[in-house]
Amino acid sequence: MSSIPLNLQAVRQRIESATRAAGRPPRSVRLLAVSKTFPPEAVREAAQEGLRDFGENYAQEGIEKIRELSALGLTWHFIGPIQSNKTRTIAEGFDWVHSIDRAKIAARLAEARGPGRSELQVCIQVNVSGEATKGGVAPSEAAQLAEQVAVLPRLKLRGLMAVPEPTPDEALQRRRFGQLRELRDRLNRDGFAMDTLSMGMSADLEAAIAEGATLVRVGTAIFGERRG
Ligand SMILES: *Cc1c(COP(=O)(O)O)cnc(C)c1O
Repeated sequence: MSSIPLNLQAVRQRIESATRAAGRPPRSVRLLAVSKTFPPEAVREAAQEGLRDFGENYAQEGIEKIRELSALGLTWHFIGPIQSNKTRTIAEGFDWVHSIDRAKIAARLAEARGPGRSELQVCIQVNVSGEATKGGVAPSEAAQLAEQVAVLPRLKLRGLMAVPEPTPDEALQRRRFGQLRELRDRLNRDGFAMDTLSMGMSADLEAAIAEGATLVRVGTAIFGERRG
């Protein structure tokens, strides 16, 4: 028997306790199941447990699952690095893109999103831990990119996303997530209306929820360890 239903129950409990501990309203944190490297059957099984939001890092792998599972009416989120030759695939297949970190990529996504479709929901990825290899704009450049994204047609700027470098130090986790929240609040005071903070994964979702995450992206804790 698969462990997905039990894993999911445990993750939902973790989210619920963290939400309550933070004094936040119940169901104020959305669970995005990161299904990268797992087969469509795993997604189908999680969907049977009531999950609607799924995240993928690789455009080709994602689009194959999206096509195969289209009858389920799920919401698909692209959360990986965006290569410019994949913008069409992403804009056509996905509902959300969390990992925008360049104006040029945002413009290509806007261009590729069919006029007959709903707006593509997007977040700007911010590199809060300053790692050279990580995707994401520097916090100091986020305002400029937000301005460029907000004026594009067929994209709706929903918020900010971060993947801080993993650390067991909970105080440091909180500081990184807190930085993203403060940045979002500051941008909103400057006139943006971003309702989404996409932060927190299997290992650090409690810290993210304590700092205001509205959406956590959880893979391993739901589907198990990824191979390769
Ligand atoms: C893989 C991935 C996740 C999920 O990570 P887990 O530690 O397996 O929960 C979340 N966000 C991004 C951007 C990822 O690439």
